[in-house]
Formats: sequence, C-alpha cells, structure tokens
Amino acid sequence: MLDTMQGRAVVVDTARSPHVLLRPLPLDAVSLADDFWEPRRRINRRDTLPSQYRYLEETGRLDNFRRASGKIGGEYQGIYFNDSDVYKWLEAAAWALAEEVDTGLQRMVDAAIIEVEDAQRPDGYLNTYFTFERAAERWADFDLHEMYCAGHLFQAAVAHFRATGSKRLLDVAVRFADHICDTFGGEEGQRQAVDGHEEIEMALVELFRVSGERRYLVQAQYFVDARGHGLLGRPYGEHDPSYSQDHEPLREQSEVVGHAVRAMYFYSGAADVYAETGDSELLWALGRLWENMTTRRVYVSGGLGSRYEGEAFGKNFELPNERAYTETCAAIGSVMWNWRMLALEGEARYADLIEHTLYNAVLPGVSLDGQRYFYQNPLADDGSHRRQPWFGCACCPPNVARLLASLPGYFYSASEDAVWVHLYAEGRATVELGGGTNARLRQHTRYPWDGRVDVEVQSEGEFAVMLRVPGWCEEGASVEVNGEAVDARVSPGTYVEIRRIWSPGDTISMDLPMPVRRVECHPYVAENEGRVALMRGPLLYCVEQTDTPGVDLRDLMLESAEPKTRVEPDLLGGVVVLEAEVRAAAPDDGWRNRLYRNVRSRGEKTPAADAKIKAIPYFAWASREPGAMRVWLKSG
Ligand SMILES: [Zn+2]
Repeated sequence: MLDTMQGRAVVVDTARSPHVLLRPLPLDAVSLADDFWEPRRRINRRDTLPSQYRYLEETGRLDNFRRASGKIGGEYQGIYFNDSDVYKWLEAAAWALAEEVDTGLQRMVDAAIIEVEDAQRPDGYLNTYFTFERAAERWADFDLHEMYCAGHLFQAAVAHFRATGSKRLLDVAVRFADHICDTFGGEEGQRQAVDGHEEIEMALVELFRVSGERRYLVQAQYFVDARGHGLLGRPYGEHDPSYSQDHEPLREQSEVVGHAVRAMYFYSGAADVYAETGDSELLWALGRLWENMTTRRVYVSGGLGSRYEGEAFGKNFELPNERAYTETCAAIGSVMWNWRMLALEGEARYADLIEHTLYNAVLPGVSLDGQRYFYQNPLADDGSHRRQPWFGCACCPPNVARLLASLPGYFYSASEDAVWVHLYAEGRATVELGGGTNARLRQHTRYPWDGRVDVEVQSEGEFAVMLRVPGWCEEGASVEVNGEAVDARVSPGTYVEIRRIWSPGDTISMDLPMPVRRVECHPYVAENEGRVALMRGPLLYCVEQTDTPGVDLRDLMLESAEPKTRVEPDLLGGVVVLEAEVRAAAPDDGWRNRLYRNVRSRGEKTPAADAKIKAIPYFAWASREPGAMRVWLKSG
C-alpha cells in the first residue's frame, strides 16, 4: 500500500496526483461546529445511517448477499443493482466512523462486510444478482450495472480503509478489480466492453491511488475511452446511445446529454483520469461540457435533469419547473465532478457551484429529520410530491448520507504554501503545507444566514489564505486583516489571496452583503419568462401554500415589492424567511372559464388584490402540510 493517508480519511485523494493544483484535507483535519451543517450531520450519523441499515435488512438487500454465499435460500430480492445500496451505505458509514467512535455503527459495518466478503466468488467476481440461476448470465448485458455495483464496492472499500485502516473490504475490492482488469480491455484475449452506468471509472482511479497498482488507472482510462464506440449497442429500454453518453467519444463531446447521474459520474471519472495522466484532451472536453451545462442546462437550484424520460438532460434551455426531474443523485454527482474540477484548476466557479448545489439541490433531497427523501426535486408542485422513507430504486438515500458524512472534506484544500477556503461554516481546520508548516484556522460565522466570516489564524508562519468570494456576492464584498483593508483584489467568483507572515490571533474578516436578490432567467426558458426567483446569499427561496392561504400561488405578482428578512428560529429548524407585500391577480380576471381569449386593449390593467408572501429556503420545502410550492414568481 502506497497510501500515505492510511488511517486518514481523504474523500478524493489527489495528494500525489501530478496534474492537480489543490490537495485535499483528511476529514479529521476539519471540524464543523456550526448550526447549519453540523446538526444535519449529527442526524445523518445517529438517525439516517441506522435507519438506512434497517431498510437494507428489511428489503432483503443484505439477504441477497447471504443468499449468494449459501447461508439462506429463497429468491433474489429487489432490483438487479441493489448491491450498490449496501456499498454506498458502507461508504457513508465509513466516513462517519472516521470522525466519531460509534460502536453501534461499527457493529453494523462489520456485519455488512462479513456478508460482502462471504458472497465473493472464488474468481473474485461479486454481484448477488448473478448467482445460482443467473450465474451463467454474468457480463452478458452491460446495462445490468455489474460494473456500476463494482465501482460502489471499490469506493466503499477505499473509504473504509482510509477511515479505519482495515484492509478487509479493500481485499474484496482488489480481488474483484483484478477480475475485471483480467477480463476487459483492449489487449488480446480481453473483452471490449463498457458499463451502461458509469461509476467504475472514478472508483478504479481511487483504487489506484490507495494501492499504487497502476493497472487500475489503466483500466479506468480504458473505460473512459472505450465509451462512445458503440460497444453498448442499444442501451437499456431502447434508449438512444446518448442515454449512457455512448453516442460519441468523450473527447468529441460538447453537450451534456442523457441520464444525468451517469453523465456526472462519467465526467468525475474522466477528471480523475486527467488528474493522474494530464491527458489534456480530456480536460478540454470536460471544460466544454461544463460550459454547456452551466449556461444552458442547469436549474436555478443547481439541479440537473429536465426529463423523466431517461432521467435525462433536455435540450438547451429546456428546464420545466413542475416536471423537473433533478434527481438528488445528479446534484450529488455535480458536487463530485465540480470538486474534481476545483482540484484540477483552483477556479472559484467550481466551488461556487458546489456551494450552490449543496444548499439548493442536494439538501432538498432529505427531510429535516433525516428519515425521508426526494428522488425528484421539482421547482413547482401542487402539493402531491412528498419525501419518502425509502425507494425500490434507493440510489438517492445512501448517496445523501455519504455526502453529508464526508462534507468537511469539501471545505478546504491546500497547495504548496496556501490554504484554500471554499465553504463557510463555524469550525476549525489544520492544514499541512509544504516545508512543515501547519496552518491552523478557525472560522467564526453564521453563514449561510449572515455574510460575515471571520477567519482567525491560530498558528505562525508565512503562507497565503485563499478565501472564496462567492460569485453570488456581486456587490460590496470586502476583506480586512486585523481591521485593515487588504490590498488584494476582492472580486466575486474568485479567491482573494492574502499572503503574509501570520501570528496567532490574526483575523481575516470577510463581509459578504446579503440583500434579497431577484434572479431572472434567460428568456429562452419559456416557462420562466416574466418571472423571478428570490435568493439571499447562497440560498434559493420558494413560496408555499401554507404561508399564503387563500391565494393561488400562480396569481402572485412581486411587482416592486422589496422583501424584508426575518429570523424564525422555530420554523423549519431555524431559518431566515423573506416577507413582502405583493399583489395577486384576481382569480378569474375576466377569463370566465375560458382557456383562450382575444388580447385585450393596452392599458387595461389586470385586476389585482393586495397579498402577502413569506418565502422560505427551498431546501426546506414540503416539510409541513402538503400544499402548492413555487420557486419562480410572476414579477408583474
Ligand atoms: Zn438517486
């Protein structure tokens, strides 16, 4: 094992990757003590993970492993890729164990690992769906997620090793990875294939990083480049090859298409390959795809995927609100891809999107009590879409759990002589820099409710602190050190660099004004024309029927209203709400039950009445009694 981080839980270990700018921090180097993320992470550890384990048992997901090892009889239970839920849960639990001793959780992890170990075939193969009656069907249909499940096993094993130092799960992963490397590739005697659902690419790169075994990196490269050459044929459900990003080689792609989760995992894997190889064509392709996604195909929430059909991206500007698909996993995949891009390029735009996506596209996917989940995250609803305790296809719940469990790993990075601060929350970090310098920082802030961030340096030495000035803060951001303005450039969407010889107690104060912002959408998104969304700081807001009784939310008109903020400590776990006096079009407005009518003369005003709105952060919607919700409101 080459892993210098053994026993140190690094989420994506680019510490020795030759083509990255930023190195990650292990989870134990960062502690959060804030009122926003840390309570959610505590719920994740104490409630979410145990309850998800119960679902793994109750729904037969663990029994599938026991059946495969011959411990019990009966039929395979559930969908063919259900093994991946066990692996993703194991990964989440491993990150949680990296931070906190929890004997109960440890017992669940150990029990699950025994079942996984025992189910492995002598040749290294491991997939509980393809055992006994289906053993002969292995590696026959590449849309049955065998490599996808393998990838999640590898990620869980890497996390478990880094978190605990135990090689038990890693040994299982290595045996399976060797089997896959022996079986598939472009060499003589190997089979050419790619999986319908990307995932194994980034997992193999991490397996290479943890083991030093180069064949896993070569295999990841092969899978990245083999896609787009028709190996999959007609994918699952007769979708177009673009469903699996298999329509053309990645190096030629310039539009994000197909199944959004697959796309995000694919680009993450390609970014990981670039980090190790420096193959610049991959980076150029990823840059084109990122540009297309962020300027044409992302929701104002950061959510991805416009179509239920194929869980897919739509065309440019195709972003329906009520029928938004925006799978929680796609948002998580976006965080994963952007994290890798950030490590490669050190550009604040990636961290901006990570922050935006975390608050507004990942977090809506889980209830405030950590026990219910959204699969789809629409931006308008009639009150019928509610979070569910589990799904037959349960990809999202353990995906949320693994991201929350590993979240501190996304707050900071290090370069040779600089600490990079990407995200803001009360807490501490210890950052190992070159030359033996240990930079200790403490953040004091009430972010995301307040834009004041004090970063106290608690150690000595010369290094730079790179603070992200969020792109949303278009005006008025300022940075001072010990009360004096810095002469560095403070511009939104960049990192402000503060380099000096630090003494303990030196404090950087960043002020990010948080006025309520009216956001409009490019006019080519027809549904949002003449509408605005409300944002404050990094948070997207929405209105819910329960706060606006007696008025159809579709009739609301913001006009010139200037929303005021109010702190509501007892609402939805404690939020800042936006209140405004607005107008509401008269419900009938002369339509007399018609769907169409001749346009009326100019100057004839729509009859309207006074109304009040109270907008809440979008992440907390659907947490009270069912009712309509809207993000985009008519502006006039
Ligand atoms: Zn999902």
